[in-house]
Amino acid sequence: MRKGGPSINSGFPSTSSGGKQNPKPMHIINERLKRLEPQETKCAYCGVDHSKNMEDNCFIPLFKEQDRTNVIVYRSVKFKKIPVGIPRCQSCMNIHESAANKAKLYAWGIALGVVVFCIAV
Ligand SMILES: [Zn+2]
Repeated sequence: MRKGGPSINSGFPSTSSGGKQNPKPMHIINERLKRLEPQETKCAYCGVDHSKNMEDNCFIPLFKEQDRTNVIVYRSVKFKKIPVGIPRCQSCMNIHESAANKAKLYAWGIALGVVVFCIAV
């Protein structure tokens, strides 16, 4: 953790109509993997840790609605569906993975129970 240091420019869009400089993009398009990768590394889930690996991030598919959507800024590439990365640290990834595995186990348990029940009856 480093503290101090000049960090006045926090990236928040100012409400003034000046617009001196372009705000730093939140996401950049990875054309090879066809997804929006977050520039921010601070975990969006716990807000404490930082993601060290792009693959640790959570990619949620986002569907393009119309041309007016502000998310798609890269106009020469047309996407119907694009995964948008949410910065996620490794510990949050582990939590999510284990939760997903638990849900999978639970589903399998129910399925097995139903099968056993059907066989028994
Ligand atoms: Zn986290």
